[in-house]
Amino acid sequence: MSTPSITHYINDERVSRDDRAQNVYNPATGEVSGSVALASQQTVNEAVAAAQAAFPAWSETPPIRRARVLFEFLRLLNERKDELAHIITAEHGKVFTDAQGEVARGIDILEFACGVPQLLKGDYTDQVSRGIDNWTMRQPLGVVAGVTPFNFPVMVPMWMYPVALAAGNTFVLKPSPLDPSASLFMADLLREAGLPKGVFNVVQGDKESVDALIDHPDVKALSFVGSTPIAQHIYQAGAANGKRVQALGGAKNHMVVMPDADIDQAVDALIGAGYGSAGERCMAISVAVLVGDVADRLVPALAKRAQELRITDGRDLKAEMGPIVSKVALQRIEGYIEQGVQAGATLLVDGRTFSPDEQGLKAGFWTGATLFDHVTPEMSIYREEIFGPVLSCVRVRDFGEAVELINAHEFGNGVSCFTRDGNIAREFSRRIQVGMVGINVPIPVPMAWHGFGGWKKSLFGDMHAYGEEGVRFYTKQKSIMQRWPESIEKGAEFTMPVAK
Ligand code: NAD
Repeated sequence: MSTPSITHYINDERVSRDDRAQNVYNPATGEVSGSVALASQQTVNEAVAAAQAAFPAWSETPPIRRARVLFEFLRLLNERKDELAHIITAEHGKVFTDAQGEVARGIDILEFACGVPQLLKGDYTDQVSRGIDNWTMRQPLGVVAGVTPFNFPVMVPMWMYPVALAAGNTFVLKPSPLDPSASLFMADLLREAGLPKGVFNVVQGDKESVDALIDHPDVKALSFVGSTPIAQHIYQAGAANGKRVQALGGAKNHMVVMPDADIDQAVDALIGAGYGSAGERCMAISVAVLVGDVADRLVPALAKRAQELRITDGRDLKAEMGPIVSKVALQRIEGYIEQGVQAGATLLVDGRTFSPDEQGLKAGFWTGATLFDHVTPEMSIYREEIFGPVLSCVRVRDFGEAVELINAHEFGNGVSCFTRDGNIAREFSRRIQVGMVGINVPIPVPMAWHGFGGWKKSLFGDMHAYGEEGVRFYTKQKSIMQRWPESIEKGAEFTMPVAK
């Protein structure tokens, strides 16, 4: 087998010596564009050892100096962000402007992390007892690892490593083998920005490398983003090994349209949030919950727009939707469409009829937009995450039924409600059992300083990604109580000390 073109990155060097590798594809053409190394346990051990060796000096570096390295990384990233977006489109398939948006949202987190001196400031109480002060500080954990999904090869790693590094940890990233090249581009820029050797490392790989990270005693925390079964496994296995774990899982996001909503705005929102990035977003809307008589007014317009979507190679600036990431994913998505038909849902627009040939496209991993109406809660297309451009309309009588439906679903990542009624908006935000809520906002991905996380089977662990929750996740609190000999009273104390 020839040497993989997409390697690991350890101690500032590209490392490729594993005997396993897998092809990387351009989803728009179906052609192999590279080969990615798949790390063995030994390679993971090497990366963790590099990160462990780099930890003492990096964690002792004053936060403001760590921030300066990140500021330089920010400058370089801003200079080269379009190159990075091109890398995303080439391996993921999402349209270029969407890839630019992904990089921009990653940069938001980096900007947040640049404020780390302020974020690490502790609390201080003077005179908790006579002559005694008490304060808290937050210290880094050590080597921390991130395991990330294919659908945001830049943004999701950037939910993790800027905050982790800023807080003084060293990092091992295990990206998705479907679109691994962005990780190396970011590693190169970090080095150029002056990040010391071994502070940021990348191991390419699959289950074997993730298992090695879970088992490694020097990995103190694991951040995972991906599908729910793997998230749950990593949460349980990581916790059993004494690690701190945040594991973000899958989703089935609903958008409620109330009868008083602006129909054109709701259609725009559903089209963009349902089919943008070919539905391969954890915050994509996959269920439209249509209340009262709104369905009869909205569905025809939605079907027309779904049929007219501009589906083409993501490099084409007019593209609204690109291909699916892989052949396996395409088969899974089209399998769900068949299940929907078999279960009796009304198939209004069938993405399977999309022909790349007729559009002058190469034989990549293509499907069109699919729209179902009259979907019911027991159908697999309603219950399960399809993770593709398939939108299901569920009709409900009233607001209460909409809330009940959503609250009964096992996922709770994002949700949205389109209405003009302030009280409905308020009640919806308060009663809904979902982690991230949008009112007339279809994809309410929180800003860098607010933190990202779903509820129920969309997140295992206590803390959300990035924001102040991220800082807490990547640091441990220490409390210090201090007095000086002048204020120590003579004699041993045998009672529980209390404030004097
Ligand atoms: P995935 O679960 O297949 O893979 C995620 C990561 O886990 C990858 O790095 C992969 O190599 C690794 N992995 C795969 N199988 C493994 C195994 N058996 N043991 C250990 N590691 C394994 O997910 P994906 O297909 O890359 O991404 C899509 C999924 O991610 C969707 O379910 C989507 O909802 C979810 N996602 C969630 C969020 C969120 O914030 N909640 C964000 C983005 C994506």
